[in-house]
Amino acid sequence: MSTFIEELLNKHGVKPTPQRAVITDFLVNTCSHPTADEVFQAVSDKLPVSLSRATVYNTLNCLVEAGVLKEVVTEPGKARYDAKVSDHHHFVDVSTGKVFDIEAEQISELKLDLGDKFKVHNFHVTIFGDAKDAKSPGEEVS
Ligand SMILES: [Zn+2]
Repeated sequence: MSTFIEELLNKHGVKPTPQRAVITDFLVNTCSHPTADEVFQAVSDKLPVSLSRATVYNTLNCLVEAGVLKEVVTEPGKARYDAKVSDHHHFVDVSTGKVFDIEAEQISELKLDLGDKFKVHNFHVTIFGDAKDAKSPGEEVS
C-alpha cells in the first residue's frame, strides 16, 4: 500500500483496508470519473481476494462519506466518482460521454440570483458539448 494513499485515508479518518486502498489508488490516478461499475471492473483483479460488486459499492459510499472522494452526477441516476475533491466543474463530451474537469476559476461569472428562499452553499456546473481533440481522460493525470 502506498504511503500517500494510507495517509490520505488516515487524514479522513478512514482505516486503510486493502480494498479501500486499491479503490482510492485507482481513483487518485485517473481523471476519467468512472462509475461504480467501471471501478469494479478496474480493481477486481488487483487484490488476491476478488472483491464483490457490493463491496466496491459500499467502499465507494464510505469513501464519499469520509470526503476522500466526491460523487459526481452528470446524468440522472448515474453516479461517477472523483478523487479530486476541491471545487471544480465538469464538461461532458456529448459524443463520447467522457467527463473532463473544469477548474472553478474558469467559471467565474455565474450569477446566482435565487432570492431569499435559497441560501447557496456552493454550486457545481456540468457543461455539455464537444471536446476538441479529446484525449482519453484516463491518460491525463493531474
Ligand atoms: Zn472532476
